[in-house]
Amino acid sequence: MFDSYQDMNQIEDHLWLGNMCAAFDPKQLLANNVRSVLSVFDDHWKEDNRSSEITYKQIWVDDVPREEMLTHMTTDAFEFIRQAQESGQGILVHCHMGYSRSATVVIGYLMQKYKKPFNETIRMVQKQREIGPNEGFILQLRMFETMNYRLDGNHRPFRHVLLEMVLDSEIFYRKWKNQLNEYYRRLDMIENSVDGGVQLGPNYLCAKCGHKLFNDIHIVKKTGIESDDYDCDFLYIEPQKWMKELSELEVNTVDTKPVKCPDCDEKLVEYNSRFNNYMCPCPQHQGLNCLRFIINKSNVKIEN
Ligand SMILES: [Zn+2]
Ligand SMILES: [Zn+2]
Repeated sequence: MFDSYQDMNQIEDHLWLGNMCAAFDPKQLLANNVRSVLSVFDDHWKEDNRSSEITYKQIWVDDVPREEMLTHMTTDAFEFIRQAQESGQGILVHCHMGYSRSATVVIGYLMQKYKKPFNETIRMVQKQREIGPNEGFILQLRMFETMNYRLDGNHRPFRHVLLEMVLDSEIFYRKWKNQLNEYYRRLDMIENSVDGGVQLGPNYLCAKCGHKLFNDIHIVKKTGIESDDYDCDFLYIEPQKWMKELSELEVNTVDTKPVKCPDCDEKLVEYNSRFNNYMCPCPQHQGLNCLRFIINKSNVKIEN
């Protein structure tokens, strides 16, 4: 353990992890040759806590398990840290305590930099500072390892995390429409990060008019279980941009909402706004929390 609690600790050359006091103390930062600060919290800064000699960047996230971190980290944070390190000057990554959020970003960064698994990397950081990412962040870092230290739009469990954390999250009381747009934005991000694009799989068409509705990759299901192994009447899918009805919803004010085929107006999808109301006990859906967009299999057909 550590002799005394410190506001910031050096993790490796030019990389520091610390708390808010460290970030708000430009004198101390400059004395340690720290010229960049990455804030990983949802507080506003007071300008007089800043120095013109330091470059600041902020990721707005809360320290809750349902906060989706990987899209923030891989797009903005890692590049900012890398540039600072390569410049030969120090960077401080911090949150309130330097314990959960900022530690998660530093662990993820080092995992990607050294292509080292989560267990090994967290031990390495723990040698320098007492840290403890929350359980949702740990889950995401482990997923980052299985995705080979990058975002992967073909990785179904990560797509589910995105759906559950960004769209299903009711804890932030965000406006539903903004939440939906944020979900689409991050999904585009992970799909664009795949070389050669996402493997969409077969097309699913409206059974009545033949309009193309979605693809196999958009179906929410456990991987490794074939459809022949079970008997389920329903498909659960990710929300699709053609579902115009969804942007009209208010969180918590409606229980269900029918979504129509954009071409023939046939009622296709039932949207359920409540958690776990439609928990399906079949092997392919059991335990999944993101079963919100429900289609009866008889309403669609697979294109041959
Ligand atoms: Zn149709
Ligand atoms: Zn089922």
